[in-house]
Amino acid sequence: MIYFDNAATTPVRREVLEKALPFLETAYGNASSVYSLGREAKKAVETARAEAAAVIGADVSEIFFTSGGTEADNWAIKGAAEALKDKGRHLITTAIEHHAVLHTFEYLEKNGYEATYLPVDKDGLVDPKELEAAIRPDTILISVMFANNEIGVLQPIAEIGEISRRRGVLFHTDAVQAVGHVPVNAPELKIDMLSLSGHKLYAPKGAGALYVRRGVKIAQFMHGGAQERKRRAGTENVAGVAALGEALRLASAEMELEAERARKLRDRITDGILNNIPHTFLNGHREKRLPGNINISFEYIEGESLLLLLDGKGIAASSGSACTSGSLDPSHVLLALGLPHEKAHGSLRISIGRFNTEEDADALLRELPPIVARLREMSPLWSDR
Ligand SMILES: *Cc1c(COP(=O)(O)O)cnc(C)c1O
Repeated sequence: MIYFDNAATTPVRREVLEKALPFLETAYGNASSVYSLGREAKKAVETARAEAAAVIGADVSEIFFTSGGTEADNWAIKGAAEALKDKGRHLITTAIEHHAVLHTFEYLEKNGYEATYLPVDKDGLVDPKELEAAIRPDTILISVMFANNEIGVLQPIAEIGEISRRRGVLFHTDAVQAVGHVPVNAPELKIDMLSLSGHKLYAPKGAGALYVRRGVKIAQFMHGGAQERKRRAGTENVAGVAALGEALRLASAEMELEAERARKLRDRITDGILNNIPHTFLNGHREKRLPGNINISFEYIEGESLLLLLDGKGIAASSGSACTSGSLDPSHVLLALGLPHEKAHGSLRISIGRFNTEEDADALLRELPPIVARLREMSPLWSDR
């Protein structure tokens, strides 16, 4: 199996698994217990917190562990909305966010808040000037993702942070696809809240974190015990958190080399497809994108059939569209780039990870052209073109 869907999830690294196992087997204490088994668990959680803080330039007191990226996004957005409701009820985000952000905004819109969804240009970039123009006296939150999960585009986060801070509006960023893959320094970028998730960087699913800058007050999301300094209740996922800390530490130490390696594979595959298969084009800015992201539209065919035939050859990738999640709607991200429905349907996302090799790229570049040719032969759109 050749796995090219690392933006969906990643395998757990051996070193990371080994860090987590003791907390499932022998050191299984509750991190809130006073005896040594509990203290050992507590120590693992605090070590992980220090690793997470170090990776994004934060203080340990600014890191709160969550069940993942979705919870971090929900908490940041609903927590800010609730805490600031007397100040205003207007929120700003973009049209290309992950559903963890978009659906949270839609929920708030049904509950007395107003939202502005910023458009993006044909390359997938938000215009900071447009963002600034959308700020109103009652704007309480700006949420713009660091890197897009479908097209990998990196937003001008420093500029957005600068504007948000100057205008006195909280700035949250969903950095789930970015942390561990590209440098992210929350204080330098003037980020107030940041979401990250373990399973996109070789830690297990179900562990993530929200960075909340010191002094930023958001409402509590999970009510219960006094864990996470009384701000996020629930018995700590010690094994998951220990794994997350180790995965972050390793990702940070290896980032430069790994990004360089991914970028080379990315560019080789991208050029290999664009130069050898006609009627294809890259979605998202060519350079301002994640080192491991490729998103290509194949005109006259369906992304879904492409995925099935690739799977038949032992290659796992993803369509840029949401079809895989049971809906036949084309991807909201590709539509936001201005692609017509039929072109948005014919896209393929290839997301490269640390275990992908040159041989994987060779196999993909070998298998893809005949599959595309075959699908086009069967397509009435192709014969009518
Ligand atoms: C995967 C992902 C999420 C959701 O994170 P989970 O840990 O799976 O809940 C949120 N935002 C982005 C950009 C993602 O890629």
